[in-house]
Amino acid sequence: MRIDLHTHSRASDGTQTPDQLVRAAKRAGLDVVALTDHDTSAGWREAEATAEEVGITLVRGMEISTKFAGKGVHLLGYLPDPFYPPLVAGLEAILEGRNGRVPGIIGKLRELGIDIDEARVHRLAGDPAAVGRPHVADALVDLGVVHDRAEAFARFLNPGRPAYVKRYAAPLEEMIGIVAEAGGVTVVAHPWGRGRTNHLDEAAFAALKAAGLSGIEVDHQDHDATSRKQLRSIAESLDLVVTGSSDHHGLGKTNHELGCNTTTPGEYDRLVDRAARAAADSGRATPAVVGA
Ligand code: AMP
Ligand code: FE
Ligand code: FE
Ligand code: ZN
Repeated sequence: MRIDLHTHSRASDGTQTPDQLVRAAKRAGLDVVALTDHDTSAGWREAEATAEEVGITLVRGMEISTKFAGKGVHLLGYLPDPFYPPLVAGLEAILEGRNGRVPGIIGKLRELGIDIDEARVHRLAGDPAAVGRPHVADALVDLGVVHDRAEAFARFLNPGRPAYVKRYAAPLEEMIGIVAEAGGVTVVAHPWGRGRTNHLDEAAFAALKAAGLSGIEVDHQDHDATSRKQLRSIAESLDLVVTGSSDHHGLGKTNHELGCNTTTPGEYDRLVDRAARAAADSGRATPAVVGA
């Protein structure tokens, strides 16, 4: 069983349509794939139809932009009712924040003498739930200013770089609660990514567990062997589910191929069991695992 619980499509900042992504997951030999676009369920319907057609198990999820102690944390939410009003409102605020800062980023790039405009960014992005920095990065690649997204972030778009603009993110513990009320379960995505090993420690994870957190994404390309070992031991001591995933973005991120990290069947079963319990407790109509 090969299980990959974190991928992106063009509904956010992946480069494949949900249909192409699910077909690629099947070709890559995955048995289970989760679609977890940033802050949206917009790709779910298309992914569901393809998963049924090609015969792969699909877990519908999302990766939510949150803040904890002043720093950004990505929260994976699996199988929530996407129509639960507080969840809808929370995601809307995040998407508006992301869309709303694009003019500011473009303005800063233009001040740097780069001839970029919003129309080009939108044309390349297609129709995602929100336009973000990755789409601005794609326009910079298209203009020949940089070679790839990574260079665009390193030179212009990361915090501290000249075209960075802040945006809104939801409070982490509140969002964990909202996803639980929506009948879903949550896992902190790549908690120690980009060298941030001091931000979320065992005490922080204990508090997040008390708020309803179910798991930690341990096996991720942003974590080295030492981080993985330490995170795994935190998860074990707090009885949190351990997941592993690719965080695939199509051509948008190199070294994140489908299935490059996976979740064990045992941990996957624990996560799905917790989701079933959350769904029952919430009394809401949550999505089923497709093909389960
Ligand atoms: P935004 O939501 O507009 O703040 O953009 C954040 C997204 O950009 C993240 O979710 C990543 O998927 C992507 N991203 C961040 N850094 C990089 C990078 N160095 N290369 C490619 N994509 C990145
Ligand atoms: Fe992304
Ligand atoms: Fe992320
Ligand atoms: Zn991601």
